[in-house]
Amino acid sequence: MYGAFETHLTDTLAAIEAAGLTKRERVITTPQGAQIGVTTAADGVLNFCANNYLGLADEASVVAAAHAGLDAYGFGMASVRFICGTQAPHTDLEARLSEFLGTHDTILFSSCFDANGGVFEALFGPEDAIISDELNHASLIDGIRLSKAARYRYRNADMADLAAQLEAAASARFKVIVTDGVFSMDGAYAPLREICDLADAHGALVLVDDSHAVGFVGGGGRGTPELFGVAERVDILTGTLGKALGGASGGYVSGHQAIVDLLRQRARPYLFSNSVAPSVVAGSLAALDLVAGSADARARLVANTELFRALMAEAGFDLDPFAGVASDAVRPTGVPPHPITPVMFPGEEGARLAGRIADHMLRESGVYVIPFSFPVVPRGKARIRVQLSAAHSSDDVRACVAAFVAARAAASGHSLSDIGIPFT
Ligand SMILES: *Cc1c(COP(=O)(O)O)cnc(C)c1O
Repeated sequence: MYGAFETHLTDTLAAIEAAGLTKRERVITTPQGAQIGVTTAADGVLNFCANNYLGLADEASVVAAAHAGLDAYGFGMASVRFICGTQAPHTDLEARLSEFLGTHDTILFSSCFDANGGVFEALFGPEDAIISDELNHASLIDGIRLSKAARYRYRNADMADLAAQLEAAASARFKVIVTDGVFSMDGAYAPLREICDLADAHGALVLVDDSHAVGFVGGGGRGTPELFGVAERVDILTGTLGKALGGASGGYVSGHQAIVDLLRQRARPYLFSNSVAPSVVAGSLAALDLVAGSADARARLVANTELFRALMAEAGFDLDPFAGVASDAVRPTGVPPHPITPVMFPGEEGARLAGRIADHMLRESGVYVIPFSFPVVPRGKARIRVQLSAAHSSDDVRACVAAFVAARAAASGHSLSDIGIPFT
């Protein structure tokens, strides 16, 4: 039987390749950091595409804590939490996360993908309605699909459409609005204040997935609810340990006591998947300690982001993913820019140009960035997504900008002035 199936698979792979959508993985030869080694380049390269926002992925005290956790608690648990997979560090980490986030309790999952995969089915039934932003992360979309609740989708950050969907869902027993705290392709914050206002007006709960914010957004690094002053009004928070909080693995749901209590009884990825490894938990605890006291790193991250944006704007690059898009989305103002910075290459030829520029930057300047095009982002809205880190020096940031400028100059031989890319 496999023969026909294999033909089907290789046809599918060929179609992906023909569409230019094959994802190839670069092999890194060093720990994750601002500077990394890759097998395709002789020298180290500057990394601008990790979610290592606070630079903790190779932080000495985090690594040391993970070593100590390995020595004290062994390599693995070989069990789920409720059978015999819970050690002191697991409950410590849950308590520390609750304290940090200002919530009642927290439940740990192997990943945020699992947290989002388990939270909806366990909490909401066919009488309920889930109202979800169209740009929410894939794991939220999948988790929502697994529940039997009625599903409503609203246009990205569009509060008039959210209100309309809440109206449409008015007869549901319970309603929950679901949003990413930060939309990862645009580096755009969800308008949480307006969302919480609508939730109050319509008697809905609010769930925020703060994976791209926890640890570094808000004065204390507590994420988008802190940034917008709505921490008390968000009922359910999900997030990852795999980005700013050390970058290893693990995710969580945090919130009211009864929500977490029921998830421990009912969430399937919690009940049926192995515990997070003790060394990872120990390292994450150390990362969380650093984050709670790391106002300096957060300030460095904001400064790097602002420097990059200023220099790129000065060099004539387009950093606005929403230019020319008709939309009623609410984009919060008066907040620091998010370290995700999309460098836009709009138009028909944009995808190819973004790819060429990213290639040139790695090859000629040793700067590692990733281009994104349709279907990951809308057609005609190709971009290179740059992610700043507190681990970058200001010289690193300047080197990244210089690499963009050099790559654009090299690409200018290809008659790109046709498509509105300015040259300097
Ligand atoms: C990265 C991310 C996830 C997945 O987190 P993992 O812990 O890696 O599974 C989920 N939601 C959002 C919004 C993310 O950005």
